Amino acid sequence: MGIVKLAMSTMPIQGMSTTYSTHSIITDSAAAGTALATGNKTASGVIAMDPTGTVSYETIAQKAHKKGMKVGIVSSVSIEHATPASFYAHRPSRKDYYELALQLPESGFEYFAGGGFNKPKGKKGDQPDVVEIIKGAGYTFVEDMEGFRKLSPADGKVVAVNPVLKGGKSLPYEIDRRDDSISLAEFTAKGVELLDNPDGFFMMVEGGKIDWACHANDAVSSIRDTIAFDQAVQVALDFYNAHPDETLVVVTGDHETGGLSIGFAGTKYDTFFQKLDGQTVSYEDFDLLISSYRKSTDGKGSMEEFFPQVESAFGLKMEELSQSDVAELKRAFSESMKGKDDRSKDQESFLLYGGYEPFSMALTHLLNRQAGISWTSYAHTGVPVPVSAAGVAQDSFNGYYDNTDIYHKMASAMGL
Ligand SMILES: [Zn+2]
Repeated sequence: MGIVKLAMSTMPIQGMSTTYSTHSIITDSAAAGTALATGNKTASGVIAMDPTGTVSYETIAQKAHKKGMKVGIVSSVSIEHATPASFYAHRPSRKDYYELALQLPESGFEYFAGGGFNKPKGKKGDQPDVVEIIKGAGYTFVEDMEGFRKLSPADGKVVAVNPVLKGGKSLPYEIDRRDDSISLAEFTAKGVELLDNPDGFFMMVEGGKIDWACHANDAVSSIRDTIAFDQAVQVALDFYNAHPDETLVVVTGDHETGGLSIGFAGTKYDTFFQKLDGQTVSYEDFDLLISSYRKSTDGKGSMEEFFPQVESAFGLKMEELSQSDVAELKRAFSESMKGKDDRSKDQESFLLYGGYEPFSMALTHLLNRQAGISWTSYAHTGVPVPVSAAGVAQDSFNGYYDNTDIYHKMASAMGL
């Protein structure tokens, strides 16, 4: 079996970046997004403002727009989530979804695409609908496949939301995606089509559900979403190859999540990645199967009765599991059969399940360990992240630097 590189790993320049925020070695996406978008460190939770949440920092996207470039913002999670918001909005708290969404039409950026809005009518649901405000500001709003595919530069400024939205108004995990859903690569290609113009464009594309899969320690979902993101990178590289003298493509992570590692104590120097081929759904969709079984059995179901669904979702066969594996699964299954409020809340349960659906977590952990993959956290970690670059000023991305430097390198390459 040969090694096949991701497109991002074939890019000519590979660097490394630190990600810490002002108050923590382990950043969140608001502080990391602010660093990438504005070149400033801030506190976790703050969107493109100083750590006190009183001074706004102009973002690279806003500067590019001022200079006459078109701007696009794409994410597989909701479009007012921390990373995309850091490029067009300013707010002391990333949780102010409605207030962040209101700043979307104010930005005047030409293309927003991917997930939807978490609080389209505000926290209490009593505010004017943000989608109506966006339409009122002159945006073409589409949320169906046909409308999306027909979009052309003649449609002007566009907000395009995926026809299918999952938890947190995000795109489905790639492993769960069907034909009724637009891929991250398609959203990216449409952006290139709509934004390309003689004065240039800036586009930020986030594979946000890679992070969510890693929070949930679901290796297969994270791998599949990484490949989907890499296909979006390939779209950018195709554009670069057609316009090599005026394009810069930069790929990085805002932080690592979950402490994902190749290597597990129980498998020593071996890996068994073929085991991962047995997984056919994400933890998110499997949670739904558990929840409907819990409801239909009134929480009194048995793991043995439910196991055919486990086998088809994860490729795990009960008769091939060790006694201790079965015991671990049974414990998690009985937790999952309880209502959320009745589950154990002690530290041991948190370390086992991280607040997620216990049975799904036990299954992905088991499958991942069998494959020789392990995790250290349900949160972000403080390790540095790779940076890949191709195009104008690519050499400046060589070496080891800070995430705030990525902003300065991009701004300098763009003449901002
Ligand atoms: Zn995260």
